[in-house]
Amino acid sequence: MFLKINRERLQQDILELAEIGRDSRGGISRPSFSEADFEARDWLKHKIEEAGLACREDGAGNIFAHLGGEGPVVMAGSHLDTVFNGGRFDGAAGVLAALEALRRVKEENVPLSLPLEMASFTDEEGNLVGDFLGSRAFVGALDENLLYESLTSFGRPLADILQATPFSLESILDAHLHRPELTAFLELHIEQGPTLETEGKEIGIVDKIAGKQDWLCLFLGETNHAGTTPFELRHDAFLALAELSFQVTHYVAQNHYGSFFTVSSVQTWPRGFSLIPGQAEFTIDFRSTDAGTLDDISSFITKTADSISQTRGVDFKFKVIDSTQPVEIQPMIINLLEEEAGKLDYSFLRLPSRAGHDAQILAQVTPVGLIFIPCEDGISHSPEENIRWEDLEKGANLLLNAMVRLAS
Ligand SMILES: [Zn+2]
Repeated sequence: MFLKINRERLQQDILELAEIGRDSRGGISRPSFSEADFEARDWLKHKIEEAGLACREDGAGNIFAHLGGEGPVVMAGSHLDTVFNGGRFDGAAGVLAALEALRRVKEENVPLSLPLEMASFTDEEGNLVGDFLGSRAFVGALDENLLYESLTSFGRPLADILQATPFSLESILDAHLHRPELTAFLELHIEQGPTLETEGKEIGIVDKIAGKQDWLCLFLGETNHAGTTPFELRHDAFLALAELSFQVTHYVAQNHYGSFFTVSSVQTWPRGFSLIPGQAEFTIDFRSTDAGTLDDISSFITKTADSISQTRGVDFKFKVIDSTQPVEIQPMIINLLEEEAGKLDYSFLRLPSRAGHDAQILAQVTPVGLIFIPCEDGISHSPEENIRWEDLEKGANLLLNAMVRLAS
């Protein structure tokens, strides 16, 4: 016999939470430390208490529900924050499935030798400072300078935002000091891609999580008249950017297919028909499940930018804004998840995650597992984000039985 979650209750929780932070464009805007986020936090704490579980919050605002006694914790969770105009399931599904798992273990009085915890991590989406503020604080891997320097997506420094909260830069930096000993961390998440749906599988078991680097870049050339400056005398910052974009994209597609390189947030200056742009500012995002590939792409970008700078007479400057290392999930966890999925008679496949997740940060301190459920048309970070409830039920059943096995 297997434990099963209560699907109606989990569904009800997700629908209730989706009303918090609902925005005028039909999506959910619930960035961490916003008014909506604090409402969601209160709602979650109430749910934890209602379930008779012990609730704890650390200095970074990460919220935990605890079931059982002492010992290295089997933890599962995700995040409740969203991007602006996001969907109902990214993050929320993982937190609420973990809460439901704890409730079912408590209701059934399942005898376990290790405690279980649900975790809800602050600012996975990176609206405050880079991605994963909460889980990075939890493992003690925050970049202190970034914390003090960064402008948040609210347009104000983090220290300003924190003044209206019970948290401070110091309490965030100290959060890891209160971290319990861990046995493992599991995360359920929507796939955010089309693979499971296309392959007709109910469950994805992640074997690798991509690492990424985010750079803020600038080509500095020379502004001049678009009608009077001969081509050979131009130092066009936009053309330098265009050349870099094409060359690196081509290189990654040819040599590292499956890894990605993207240029976005392009701004040229000055603006106007008759002006050759003297400045081009842009961001670069590149990702791979292989650390060596990330290094190779990084050195290809700088090498190419240097050579373009020489031929076009421009300068290239960049700053690394965020970086994460790829993670390989331990075979012990993959096997355990596959065995449990098999026992539950669910169809599954192994796949890599190209999006980042709290689990990859937790991997710095404990073995982790990542369970994907299909999402409609692979859409996420959008009001259109959708799932089939039976897929969530299956993912949550797998999470529950895997947690019980790890804690037995
Ligand atoms: Zn997420």
